[in-house]
Amino acid sequence: MNQMRAPIESGVPDNKQFLHPLLLKNYGNWKYHDRPRPGVLHHVARSGDEIWTVRAGTQRQMDVYTVRKLCDIADNFADGRVRFTIRSNIEFMVADQNKVAPLIAELQKSGFPVGGTGNSVSSIAHTQGWLHCDIPGTDASGAVKALMDELYEEFIREEMPNRVHLSTSCCEINCGGQADIAIVMQHTKPPKINHDLVANVCERPSVVARCPVAAIRPALVNGKPSLEVDEKKCICCGACYPPCPPMQINDPEHSKLAIWVGGKNSNARAKPTFMKLVASGLPNNPPRWPEVSAVVKKILYTYKADARPWERIADWVERIGWPRFFEKTELPFTKYLIDDWRGSRANLNASTHIRF
Ligand code: SF4
Ligand code: SF4
Repeated sequence: MNQMRAPIESGVPDNKQFLHPLLLKNYGNWKYHDRPRPGVLHHVARSGDEIWTVRAGTQRQMDVYTVRKLCDIADNFADGRVRFTIRSNIEFMVADQNKVAPLIAELQKSGFPVGGTGNSVSSIAHTQGWLHCDIPGTDASGAVKALMDELYEEFIREEMPNRVHLSTSCCEINCGGQADIAIVMQHTKPPKINHDLVANVCERPSVVARCPVAAIRPALVNGKPSLEVDEKKCICCGACYPPCPPMQINDPEHSKLAIWVGGKNSNARAKPTFMKLVASGLPNNPPRWPEVSAVVKKILYTYKADARPWERIADWVERIGWPRFFEKTELPFTKYLIDDWRGSRANLNASTHIRF
């Protein structure tokens, strides 16, 4: 018997039900697109239909009032639909060119900058942080807000040599990704163990299994079951903290921030690249992280002044070479920086999971 298949109740829903009707009508059938001004995309379909997309930046982690305000703007000034980009910019679509200017005016009046397209500094991607995750060493969204406040002009203009993707990660091992410039949490000391709490709070086998370099062993301390860390092996990753909060690794003095440069997923013009460490030991200094912002801006504006048109940061560094990069950005160079994976055999062989 030919029966209907039962619906699959997991995974993402089919996005077609949420698309703007004009996008749905012309799905896969677009002729060209251009950008009439920073923050606005204009798509023309083979059918002759046209649609304008207005992109705006937000403060990233949003309260319900802000979400409602954005929805009201969509209802009153756009066609009632929004979508988010991979860097969490919000986009409003309108099928009538006359709606573009009032929509931009309303967004700007409400405090949402319009931009983030083409050769701009788009919104900074950040990891989930304290809102969803149990191991953040810093407030990724706060660092992003502080930095984007300073890069506002670069968001609303398209004056960079090529697009610039920035990211912030609040630990150094899990989510986060490749970016032209990345801010990454960096613990510099192994965890301190509160032995009185381990037996009450932790499942010791889970903690032992969690360590990527097998540095944790069960131990008896003062007659109670606890743990010990082989500090020569520990890479200060912080992975042991979630299954065992008494393994304290966040520290106001020793938890720092590092800057990585030159990652990209795109394979336009040159192949995708891994980013490399160029500055470390910067203070984790909320609420504005001025030391981190200063290094990021120094790298960014050196790139802006020195790169050729269409060079991404990785392409620029490839052309001038790492010694010139450190000279031009005036960052101190040490032997611990820019590990380029030629040494990956030694690095990865420190792992219990990968051997080659
Ligand atoms: S980067 Fe690390 S701490 Fe931050 S949200 Fe991802 S897993 Fe959690
Ligand atoms: S910080 Fe990372 S490497 Fe060090 S003991 Fe914990 S899990 Fe292992």
